[in-house]
Amino acid sequence: MNNCIFCKIIKGEIPSKKLYEDDEMLAFWDIDPQAPYHFLVVPKKHVADISALGEADDKLAGKILRLGARLVKENGGGDFRVICNNGATAGQEVFHMHVHFLGGRRLGSFA
Ligand code: 5GP
Ligand code: ZN
Repeated sequence: MNNCIFCKIIKGEIPSKKLYEDDEMLAFWDIDPQAPYHFLVVPKKHVADISALGEADDKLAGKILRLGARLVKENGGGDFRVICNNGATAGQEVFHMHVHFLGGRRLGSFA
């Protein structure tokens, strides 16, 4: 999608520090990490948020979680938190679905 920053990262038009890539998924380190490790798993297909997923995306959605957990382990992470903001009021700033995986420090409760 035009003017989507994550589509541009996926196409290589904006650089990123990649952890993983295949034909349907990209994982890269967050530019503004909120914990010692913090990366994003992003489907290459432009989907605005979880609410925009269709039934045909069930496998893709499941893969995000399994892949993220595997990447945490491969990068030496221990316990981790998974966050997916949906909508501006919930803190979403990039409207291309992505799931945050972060950890490496004690994570407190959040509002
Ligand atoms: P959101 O608030 O939409 O859930 O999260 C967007 C995330 O994308 C933020 O954590 C932000 O730091 C990250 N981000 C925004 N622009 C870029 C970028 O150009 N490169 C990388 N690596 N991360 C980005
Ligand atoms: Zn996009």
